[in-house]
Amino acid sequence: MTHRIVVLGAGYAGMSAAVQLTARTRKRDVEVTVVNATERFTERLRLHTAAAGGELAEFAVPEMLDRVGARFVAGWVTGIDAGARTVRIDDERALPYDTLVYALGGVADTGVPGVAEHAYRLDGLREAGRLAARLARLDGGTVVVGGTGLTGVEAATEIAERHPGLDVVLLGRTEPGADLAPRAAAHVRAALDRLGVAVRAGAEVVKVLPDAVALAGGETVPARAVLWTGGTRVPPLPAAAGLTVDDSGRIVTDATLRSVSHPEIYAVGDAAAIRQTYGVLHGTCGSGMPTGVHAAVSIVRTLRGRRARPFRFGYYHLPVSLGRGDAVVQFTRPDGRPRRLCLTGRRAVRYKEIVTASPWGTFRRMTVMPASGAFWPHGGRFTR
Ligand SMILES: Cc1cc2nc3c(=O)[nH]c(=O)nc-3n(C[C@H](O)[C@H](O)[C@H](O)COP(=O)(O)OP(=O)(O)OC[C@H]3O[C@@H](n4cnc5c(N)ncnc54)[C@H](O)[C@@H]3O)c2cc1C
Repeated sequence: MTHRIVVLGAGYAGMSAAVQLTARTRKRDVEVTVVNATERFTERLRLHTAAAGGELAEFAVPEMLDRVGARFVAGWVTGIDAGARTVRIDDERALPYDTLVYALGGVADTGVPGVAEHAYRLDGLREAGRLAARLARLDGGTVVVGGTGLTGVEAATEIAERHPGLDVVLLGRTEPGADLAPRAAAHVRAALDRLGVAVRAGAEVVKVLPDAVALAGGETVPARAVLWTGGTRVPPLPAAAGLTVDDSGRIVTDATLRSVSHPEIYAVGDAAAIRQTYGVLHGTCGSGMPTGVHAAVSIVRTLRGRRARPFRFGYYHLPVSLGRGDAVVQFTRPDGRPRRLCLTGRRAVRYKEIVTASPWGTFRRMTVMPASGAFWPHGGRFTR
């Protein structure tokens, strides 16, 4: 009997899982199928560049999967029937599985009124392209970036640099770079000042309007475009399928990355709530790719009648771009807390280019040499 493994999502985590599965099961009776909305690989960590009007390289998912012997299905996953063990695609096709790997990532949290209707989000290339087109049409005025987290900082600096004729306002609850050590945070602030980004820390957005954002306290900030980066959540698909999820909709996993409620389903990347000794992992490529690899290893070990091992991961850096010519790389403790050491300026840009280079090279290397796991080039250490 062929064991059917279906991987949902061909992002960083899903591709890592699929490539690793095929590399480790070539001669076994295992069929790996990957479902993804698009044939083009979405370099999510570069979507702020695309949103500001930059071009991204194109990588074809079916080509890579063909190379490793996995099947590709293009389509939008609309549901999972966990009882019947089938996945629904585009509401009309049903794909059966024996083991499922859920790697559909997350989307911007649209909980604040008006965000869903009036704000642009970095949820995919098409959405990023829509903002790029809007910015290209503007002959002046204010662009508001809502959310002072690192995605907001990257987006605000990129937009300000590419569109010097626009006034960029970055607003949110915390100071930009609040999670960084003082030197790195000061560099972030200096870059925002240099690029003319007006920062409004301590601002609580209560509503996004067609041409403004409304703040707690009654003030409105006029805006010709609003980009929303205020948090992420997982769409209701796993919860609707009856899987145990956390407050953000992420699938709660055990130590080997299986759903705690449905052990035949593994969850990886941004869609998973994976607990480590220091807390639940936050979504990054650096942690997402190792989760995909680890899930693949766990599946293969289980199929061979061996016990899967717990996933362990430690962060070691946090690279943040500040436009094309500047960046900051904050080195961290394994639990994500900042160390004193950081890189800034050109050295940080070069460092970030290397660690966030297209994962295609990593996937290719995995096809000939399954990941060993001692050191992970995309942002953390993990052991198996
Ligand atoms: C602007 C920005 C900058 C970032 N910078 C960094 C950084 O510097 N370093 C870092 O480590 N992380 C960074 N991140 C975070 C990082 O991009 C995510 O953590 C990472 O992409 C998560 O990988 P994933 O595989 O879980 O999900 P994704 O990469 O989002 O992949 C999910 C895949 O599933 C597909 N999909 C989703 N829903 C469906 C559906 N219903 N049906 C079919 N297909 C579907 C999507 O099209 C996509 O291909 C950044 C994120 C953003 C938005």
